[in-house]
Amino acid sequence: MADTRWVNSGDSHVIEPLREWVEELPERLHTVLPHVVVHDDHEDVILDGQTFRRRRPSAPRIEFAEKSQGPPSAGDVTKRLTDMDAEGVWGEVVFPTVGMWSSSYRTLDDHRTIVQFGNDWLKRELLDRSPRFVPAAQMPMLSVDDAIAELQRCAGLGFHCVHLATTPAVGVPDYNDEVWEPFWANAEEASVVVSFHVGTDPVDFETGRVRGPVHSGPGDAVLNYTETSFTGQRVAMKLVASGALDRHPDLRILIAEAGAAWVPALGDRMNEAYAHHSPIVLHPLERSPKEILFAQIYATFQHGESAPLVAAELGYRNVMWGRDYPHLEGTWGHTQQVIDGVYASCDARVADRITRGAFAELFPHVGEPPANDWPAGADGADAAEAPTA
Ligand code: MN
Repeated sequence: MADTRWVNSGDSHVIEPLREWVEELPERLHTVLPHVVVHDDHEDVILDGQTFRRRRPSAPRIEFAEKSQGPPSAGDVTKRLTDMDAEGVWGEVVFPTVGMWSSSYRTLDDHRTIVQFGNDWLKRELLDRSPRFVPAAQMPMLSVDDAIAELQRCAGLGFHCVHLATTPAVGVPDYNDEVWEPFWANAEEASVVVSFHVGTDPVDFETGRVRGPVHSGPGDAVLNYTETSFTGQRVAMKLVASGALDRHPDLRILIAEAGAAWVPALGDRMNEAYAHHSPIVLHPLERSPKEILFAQIYATFQHGESAPLVAAELGYRNVMWGRDYPHLEGTWGHTQQVIDGVYASCDARVADRITRGAFAELFPHVGEPPANDWPAGADGADAAEAPTA
């Protein structure tokens, strides 16, 4: 594959093998794990003693769901590197799938046990297998003390990235609360990147939907997917406005799958509030909100056409590409065309930064991907001649 451009991905996923997990976990935890029980006319989604009922999907939706599982290697980590090589992906952040439900548990001890079990599995199956995998260890979401303890344990195990839900579990203080201060301090001290992946807000089992805005009716599929990007933006806002990132300038935050072009606009808005509402701003910052956002927030996009332009024209250097493997909205099967599009839309030095450099800055241990000498050198020459997607 002489024509492959090698890149890194800041947003990929692994599908945990629950059938294997239940053989190792104590029996009482089997029904605590998120799972679906199918009936004739409906199915029950069950998590930690909570159930919501939903209609069984129609035939086209089942086909859609099967397609969204992506390539066979999505659930087979032994084949994953082969698949990455075929796509030109060198290193990647790997988020859990079952682990994305963490903010919806309610039983403290069971949740802690399952999170630790899942992180030990990530270490065994990904972290220890290749430095090209950067698994994001899931943090317990029912107790800040538990989250701090698991952060310290995972840093000790060698994890370089941990994952928090975009909104804490019900009853746990939000991320702008000072109760989280030791968590940020520990992450900074351990040089662990703290990531937030969209789609991880708590679920309301009364309605079977996430807490927060949910749309139905015309346009609902697009509305609900787009809505998730705001959950990533809200986390960034809270960490900046509360001063958490200002107090910890070496702490780096990865906002995954919320797009990246929003960062400068959000910075403008926050600067406006900070400057013009100064009499009621009770938490002074050493740096402006936009400066903090630009320095410490890394944001991933898959297909966004504006993201490269924001990096090229507006000075936001931490735009990071991610393939969202193996999801339907990801780039599996057309990754190289998408990367061609990035290189076609901006200077090759900027494209290198977006597709390789920003990731390498967060995770230098992964090592450099093979050099891209087709059709432009990494020095940025001939970028205008790159083919379009
Ligand atoms: Mn993703």
